[in-house]
Amino acid sequence: MPSQPPLALAVLGRGVVDPGTPTLFADDEAVLRGRAAFETIRVYSGAPFRLDAHLLRLSSSAATLGLPNVDARALADLARQAVAAAGAPDATLRVVWTAGRESSGEGFAFALVTRLPPHLDELRSRGLRLVSLQLAVGTQTRQASPWLLPGVKSTSYAVNMAAQQEARSRGADDALFLSLDGVVLEGPTSNVWFREGDALFTPSLELGILAGVTRDTLIGGAGAAGYEVEEGRFTLERLAAADEVFMSSSLREVVGVSELDGRPVGSGTPGPAAERMQQVLRAAASAS
Ligand code: PLP
Repeated sequence: MPSQPPLALAVLGRGVVDPGTPTLFADDEAVLRGRAAFETIRVYSGAPFRLDAHLLRLSSSAATLGLPNVDARALADLARQAVAAAGAPDATLRVVWTAGRESSGEGFAFALVTRLPPHLDELRSRGLRLVSLQLAVGTQTRQASPWLLPGVKSTSYAVNMAAQQEARSRGADDALFLSLDGVVLEGPTSNVWFREGDALFTPSLELGILAGVTRDTLIGGAGAAGYEVEEGRFTLERLAAADEVFMSSSLREVVGVSELDGRPVGSGTPGPAAERMQQVLRAAASAS
């Protein structure tokens, strides 16, 4: 997705600054070694959606990365300052917590607000074309290896970005990660779902995937929308034969999948569950 010019920036210890202000030191470990955790949060009507859940996940990512502890209250303040300064009702908020300057032992944070990526609704109506890409790790190894950072949202996302680039070079929109043993995991920036009849299926967090805040919101709202949800280990073949497949993430929200590895999926995009779960998500955002 093309990047968007920043609307507002708030920096820990400084507050709101001009978004063009240089912010990080060259020896910040985020830059030198990718040692930083981040969150991408959607702002609806001027309010960051489920900010507390995002900051909780940021704390957990920081702990696994061995970063200084996150002060969730200070970061929530910083996030709100940036959102207020941006003055845009609907936007993207990123909160970044870095390891700080080399050997300083003190973390550093900023909150950045940008416009939403363009064409999200267009993407939702035409659906995503996915290609499956295998990660060189089996699910058991991944689960048992904290140094592989399972379930961590760190700025070391170069592999995820390279996977999206590979998907685009094959004429698709996005990638779908499979483990070495062929288990469906997640996308580089989203969780994956499929529907069989009235049941929704999504990979289990035990597989070391990211605990998506959108995923959690959809699990919470699925029952009232008439769907039961099962989390587990699923093969690509099962996904390819499903009634529909969709992805979930904070920015894109719920987007149907139209094609998997060059073959059509389900019977048209968006499928009924993708549409219904998008409504569930929007209802949760307006109620918050
Ligand atoms: N999985 C990965 C690897 C992600 O990077 C993301 C979000 O960026 C998600 C899933 C979806 O998470 P959320 O719904 O919290 O945006």
